Amino acid sequence: MALYPLAQVEEKSASMGGRGRTYEEAKRILHPDTTREALAEIGFKGKEKLQDAVDEAFLMACDALDKQIPEPPVVLNQKGSKHFFCVACDMRIVSEINGELCGRKPRFCPYCGQALNWRADNG
Ligand SMILES: [Zn+2]
Repeated sequence: MALYPLAQVEEKSASMGGRGRTYEEAKRILHPDTTREALAEIGFKGKEKLQDAVDEAFLMACDALDKQIPEPPVVLNQKGSKHFFCVACDMRIVSEINGELCGRKPRFCPYCGQALNWRADNG
């Protein structure tokens, strides 16, 4: 199965209600080394556009930070089997069939990059 986590991330930023600002642009706005330059480029379009861009960049940063905060997967018990799903993207990460793990429990969702906490409410 081919995985394109970066493409998924960019897709999400476009669907967040923004104008599809990329994470790269958001980082330029937020990083102290590049803030001045990035804001100058946007600023000539007007003060409102500038505020929108900054707000959007902060929201994207929070969205990215959320993925670094480990969340327990959603567990579905089914006829002696356990299926673990990512809370962020709903993809199935791994299954445990008759007590035997089919695969491994990764620290991050292989589909969307969400950090996972396996110690909470599951074995
Ligand atoms: Zn995921």
